[in-house]
Amino acid sequence: MDTQPSRLMAIYRTLYSRYGAQHWWPGDTPFEVMVGTILTQNTSWNNVEKAMVNLKPYLQPQVIYNMEDKKLAQLIRPSGFFNIKTKRLKNFLNWFKGKDFSLEPLKTLGPYDIRKELLGIKGIGRETADSIILYALNIPIFVVDAYTKRMFKRLGFSLPKSYDDIQKFFQDNLPKKVQLYNKYHALIVRHCKECCKKKPLCDTCCLKDDCQKEGLP
Ligand code: SF4
Repeated sequence: MDTQPSRLMAIYRTLYSRYGAQHWWPGDTPFEVMVGTILTQNTSWNNVEKAMVNLKPYLQPQVIYNMEDKKLAQLIRPSGFFNIKTKRLKNFLNWFKGKDFSLEPLKTLGPYDIRKELLGIKGIGRETADSIILYALNIPIFVVDAYTKRMFKRLGFSLPKSYDDIQKFFQDNLPKKVQLYNKYHALIVRHCKECCKKKPLCDTCCLKDDCQKEGLP
C-alpha cells in the first residue's frame, strides 16, 4: 500500500496543530496578493510588508500601470532589488492590461494554461506563477519552494529533482483542494523559519518522531 498520502496528511495535521491557520496570502484583494507575490522574491515578508504599506494608497492595477517607474521604485524600495522589481511589476501589469486588468478571462483557463501565460512574463518564475494561481485565483496548484525541498528531504522523502516533478509528487499524493494547498505551503514556510532552519532545532520539533534527519550530521 502506498503510504505517502497518509504520511503527507499526517505531517500536515501535525504542523496545523502546532501552528494553526496562517491566513495566507496576506492581502485585501487578488491584485494586492499578486503584487505581494512579485515583491516577496528574494526577500523576507517583513520587508515586503513595508513596501505594501507604501503602496496601499495606489493598489489599483491602472494606477500602478500609469505610475512613473521612479516613483514606483521608491515606494517598493523596502522590498529590496527595487529597480528589478519595478521592471517585473511593470512587465506583469503590461500583461494584465492585455486582460483589461481583470482576472475573469483567466478563470476560463486551466491552471497550467494560466501558468504558461504567467511564465511568459519576464521575471515571473514557477514559484511566483504558482503563488498567483493558488493565492490570488484560488485554483489548486501546489507551490514548491526551497523550504519544501529542505524539509521533505530531511524528513526522508526521496523527492524528484525538478520543480515540476516535485509539484506533481505533492499533487498526486494529496487531495486537490485549494484550502489544503494554501495552508500546507504556509505551514511549511512557518515551520522552516521557526524550527527546520538551515541549522534545525530538532529537539523541539513537532515532527521529530517521523523524521529521518536525512543529510544532517
Ligand atoms: S526533526 Fe529536525 S530535520 Fe526533521 S523536520 Fe524537525 S527540525 Fe527538520
